[in-house]
Parts: sequence; C-alpha cells; structure tokens
Amino acid sequence: MAFIWCIILLCEFLRFFAFFLGGYMFEVNNDNWLEILDFFKNEYDISDAGFQTFIEPLQFKSYKDGLITLVFTGPTGAKGINYVNKKYVDFLKVSVFEITKQDVTFKITLPTDEDSVVDEVVKSNSSLDLRIEESNLDPKYTFDTFVVGSNNNAASVTAITVAEAPGEIYNPLYIYGGVGLGKTHILHAIGNYVLKHNKNAKVLYTTSEDFVNEVINLLGRTNKATQEDFQEFRTKYREADVLLIDDIQFFSKKDRCQEELFNIFNELHRRNKQIVITSDRLPREIKDISDRLVNRFEMGLSVDMKNPDYETRMAILKSKASNSPINIPDEVFDYIANNFTSNVRELEGTLNKIDFYAKLNNTSEIDLNFAKSTLKEMIPDDSNKKITCEYIIDVVADHYNIPVSDITSRKRSSNIAWPRQICMYLCSKHTDETQESIAYALNKDNHATISYACKKVTKEIKNNKETAMLIEQLEKKIL
Ligand code: ADP
Ligand code: MG
Repeated sequence: MAFIWCIILLCEFLRFFAFFLGGYMFEVNNDNWLEILDFFKNEYDISDAGFQTFIEPLQFKSYKDGLITLVFTGPTGAKGINYVNKKYVDFLKVSVFEITKQDVTFKITLPTDEDSVVDEVVKSNSSLDLRIEESNLDPKYTFDTFVVGSNNNAASVTAITVAEAPGEIYNPLYIYGGVGLGKTHILHAIGNYVLKHNKNAKVLYTTSEDFVNEVINLLGRTNKATQEDFQEFRTKYREADVLLIDDIQFFSKKDRCQEELFNIFNELHRRNKQIVITSDRLPREIKDISDRLVNRFEMGLSVDMKNPDYETRMAILKSKASNSPINIPDEVFDYIANNFTSNVRELEGTLNKIDFYAKLNNTSEIDLNFAKSTLKEMIPDDSNKKITCEYIIDVVADHYNIPVSDITSRKRSSNIAWPRQICMYLCSKHTDETQESIAYALNKDNHATISYACKKVTKEIKNNKETAMLIEQLEKKIL
C-alpha cells in the first residue's frame, strides 16, 4: 500500500514539476520580453543607434498560441516595422527560443492598429485575412478609408456598385486618372469589399507589371515553358470572379501579353465575371495597344479621377491624421492643402513627415511654424517666383482640370470661356503685363476682351460669394 502511495506521490510531484517547468519555459510575457531583448542585444552585432531606433520601440503586447504581438512605437512608423521584419525578426525569434524554448511568430503593429483590430482579426478573421493575402490585396485600402469628393465621386460610386454586384452592371469598369489620386486604393477597396461580403468569391489583384513579368518569365525559360505551365497561368486568372488589373498602360508594346490578357478578358467577360482596370489615361490614348483590346476596355464604363479640390484635400488630411497622436491645428492643414494640390500621395507624405519629426522632438503639439520648417524641402522655394501669365494660366487650368491648350484655344463653350476670363482677370491684377501681352498670352487678337473679362469677373466677385471664394483660393495658389 505504502508503495502505491509512493508512486502516486511521485507522479504528482512529476506533474507539478512539469507544470512548473512548462510554465516557466513556454510563457512569453512582459518581464521576460526585456530579458529577450537583452539577450538579443548581447548576442547580435547591432549598433546602439540601431537598437534604439528599431528594437527598443518594440513593446510587448500579447502572446497567444505561439504568436507574439508587438507594438512598434518608434517615429519611423510602418517603414520601421518593414525594416524590423526584414532585418531583425529572425534574430528575435532565435532570442525568444533561447530564453523560453518556444518557437514563435511575430505580428508587429502600429499603436493605432492595436487592441480591437489585432486580437479580433487573429481570432475570428483569420480565414478572411488569408483570402485577402491570397488575392494580393492590401487590407488597409478600403472604402471606409477612402474620402469621397467631387473629383472622385463617379469613380467611388461605380466602384461600390461593382463591389456590391460584381459582373452585373459595369463590366469592365475602367478607372483612369493621374498619379497618386487613389486608383490603386479604390481597386483594393473593391477587392476587400467583395471578399468580406461574399465568402465564396475569388478575387485576384495584379499589377500589369506583374502580369507582364509572369508572361515574360514563361516565354523566356531556357527549357521552354510547356503547355501546362501556360495553362496553369491562364487558369489562375480565369478562375477569378473579380479580376483587378492596375496600371494597364504598362501593356503598351507588349504584344504577347496583350494577347494573353485578351483571351482571359473574353473568357471572364463571357461568364459575367467582373473586371476592373485602372490606367493613367483613356484606353484610346494608350500607345501601342491593340484595337481589339481597346475595344474590350470600352465595353463597360470608363470613369475618371481628377485632382482633389481644396475641401477634399482638407478632408483627406483630416482623415489620415485622425489616427495620429499628433495634434494638428487647422491652419497647418490649410497650409498643406494650399501647397500640395495635385497628388494625394504627396499630401499623405507631408503628414508622415510631420508625424515623424514631432515624435522625434517628443511632442504631440505642433504649430504652423513647425510644419513650415518641417516641410521646407518638400515645397519649392518661391521667394524668387515671378508671376507670369503662363503661370496663372497653368494654375487656373489645373484648378479646372482642363488642358492649357483649351484655355488658349478659340473654343467658346462656357466651361472653357469662364476659366479663360478668370485668367484674364488674374493676369491683369497680378502681373505688370499690358493688356496687349495678356491678350497675346491667351491667344486673343483683340485686347478689348481683357477689359471686358476683368469687369465681368469683378462684378461676379461682388455678387456671388462662391466666385469670391474661388478667386481667393486661386490667388492663394498663385501668390
Ligand atoms: P494611384 O494608384 O492613383 O497612383 P494610390 O491609390 O496609390 O494612387 O493613392 C496614393 C495614396 O493616396 C494612397 O496612400 C491612398 O490611400 C491615398 N489616397 C488617394 N486618394 C484618396 C482618398 N480619396 N481618400 C483617402 N486616401 C486617398
Ligand atoms: Mg497606382
């Protein structure tokens, strides 16, 4: 009997010991995180500056089922996270193993992505996460984070429509416009929306560059690509319920790639699968692209994205800044919105810079002077700027999103005649040019049109508040 008791006691002791040991070995927590970082610092050849910039700002947040979530609080933000992932994560994994004997993976987030998102996404949305990844989509580009203004209203409405009813209404949807205006964002937003609302949908996002490279790789293999290799490539695209192709202008001159795309397009379109395409210009304006492909692109609906107006720029700035701990006063937003007029990517860039320098200076309160000195290099020095008629015409054309050649043309339609008269008014007011030279700059024979335009605009400014605001806004840009 005593012998049996001894065995039981021994088992209990072993169980307790294993539990104690296991608990000690496997738990990663706030305390041993510091120990892990210590180990990391001693073991690997990292400079003090590197450690301070990239490793110290990694705050332990949680540990669950082999996944360590860290919050990166450094001023380098998302770029810092990329760098840590590329350069240090493997060493961090080894350090964790040395201290806890645990194989782990890391998820590093920004302070703003914290809490709600991380845990929930990991728990309940992991299959959605996986589908987003498999579709080549960036989860941060959604309709929720896309600011709608008059410049992108049509693109936004049609994009939501195709996301709601893929293949049913506008097919293909062709979105075109200049650089940094949100085309890629909206393309991803469509994909993310479809995946979230339809568990079975297959979405595939590709840049034209990737597509072209895939074809070139297949064609360029030394041991020739077999029919099956091509078949595999085609099947991947043909299986999509929603195919999103970014920057189609890249297909210019690539005949074989155009042929592959043509066949994929036909197959998908025939089966009512949604195709969405972006480009920097209309199908017809892409050089060296086959007529039959242009023809396909024009089958559905083409919508353009223009430069955001002042209000939209302000709204985008405020929306992007809402996640930042830095308190940005309205006059700073106004300053940025007036100096960065045509590219949302640049607009965003200013906020990143302000964010970075504010964190570096350990402050969350900034003012206009801080913004001006921080963004100094991004804004062209205009102390020697000479205001010329050409410059004014440029600014007005840009504001109305019409080509300069229209303003200096003989076209009489009101959407051109009115901006032209505004040019005349602003040139008279803000340059030393004679009426003859202003008429010359605007390609007008008769300088009497200049005084007529000046009177008309002056009257409009008096009687119409909107015109007064418009002129004020244009003058802000010009001066
Ligand atoms: P494009 O593909 O037209 O060159 P992107 O889609 O890459 O432009 O946009 C550049 C950046 O500007 C992205 O970070 C995007 O999120 C942002 N952006 C552009 N337009 C908007 C908008 N209307 N609302 C919010 N962010 C925008
Ligand atoms: Mg793009």
